[in-house]
Amino acid sequence: MSNYQVGQYILNRCTNCFHKEMKIIKVIEKNFNEKVTYVLWTKCPVCGAKDNELVPENK
Ligand SMILES: [Zn+2]
Repeated sequence: MSNYQVGQYILNRCTNCFHKEMKIIKVIEKNFNEKVTYVLWTKCPVCGAKDNELVPENK
């Protein structure tokens, strides 16, 4: 199971307004050669800018 949940806040700087915390709006699981990674779609709670980040399973 993913360590990341929709609605959770993660430390990640907004590229638009530089707020330091982003809210997860979508988690997509990806499998590359038996390694599981996740694409986290995030949204800034301040300016509403969306971003995405590729993260390993156990981070
Ligand atoms: Zn922002």
